[in-house]
Amino acid sequence: MDKLIIGSHVSFTKNEGLLGSVKEALSYDANTFMFYTGAPQNTVRGPIDNIKTNQAKELMKQNNIDINNVIIHAPYIVNLANDKDPDKYNFAINFLMQELKRAKQLGINKIVLHPGSHVGLGEEKGLNNIVNALNIVLEDKEGPIICLETMAGKGTELGTSFEQLKTIIDGTKNNQRLMVCLDTCHLNDAGYDVTDFDKLLEQFDQIIGINKIGCIHINDSKNPKAAHKDRHENIGLGTIGFDNLINIIYNNKLKEVPKILETPYISLNGGKDRTYPPYKFEIKMIKNKKYNPNLLDNIRAYYKKP
Ligand code: FE
Ligand code: FE
Ligand code: ZN
Repeated sequence: MDKLIIGSHVSFTKNEGLLGSVKEALSYDANTFMFYTGAPQNTVRGPIDNIKTNQAKELMKQNNIDINNVIIHAPYIVNLANDKDPDKYNFAINFLMQELKRAKQLGINKIVLHPGSHVGLGEEKGLNNIVNALNIVLEDKEGPIICLETMAGKGTELGTSFEQLKTIIDGTKNNQRLMVCLDTCHLNDAGYDVTDFDKLLEQFDQIIGINKIGCIHINDSKNPKAAHKDRHENIGLGTIGFDNLINIIYNNKLKEVPKILETPYISLNGGKDRTYPPYKFEIKMIKNKKYNPNLLDNIRAYYKKP
């Protein structure tokens, strides 16, 4: 049987913490998940409830969720590339150190991080700032791993090429604590051909090493290759397409790597009302390896109040 490690982004609430995240993942029939330890767009973080965390671990055990496959995503406002304001730069470094502590307390080993945007400082200076920051953040030889995410190239984003990621990894002293998170939408938008994934992996292997892939974000894209946009689309409804995404998900070389969906929520009537997670249905489609042309209708029917 195919071993498939698949899940999605889930929430981590103040009251339920990790326990709520596990319950949500199970409701999607997932066997892993990813979460922010608070709001993705800010750095306000509450204390971690150890009782809830232990209950979460128990629930994971009962349902064969390996905590080593569970991922934290650092808030996307943390920008290690920008040192224009030293206070902000130091805040970002300190925040990330706290985030690593939170991960450790939760028992989670991988944190996905957007490398940063150089905001006009230039690529070289930006990469340098990231390296300097990571050398502080990863001062200890041991501890949770940071997975640098491949970025779409929106604005002045860094980490849009394997070469840039290699520069960061090579510059970081304790780079045994660095891995990479491939994001299929971002790779496509950055200009990589994700429809020939074996070739892409070969290229990655030559530059960074395939054993450094710690996580894969599975998203379709709303935009064509090299658009530098970063707008995720539901599985099978974008420019990458279902078959190409299935090829990536079931690639033999990536069996042990957790796959995480970050596809958009669906509104019931196409308007600006409340939206609902597509993950239960996308995961089902992925497990069946068969495209469901009624995906959106099925999601809407499921969440529609009787
Ligand atoms: Fe991300
Ligand atoms: Fe992503
Ligand atoms: Zn994205």
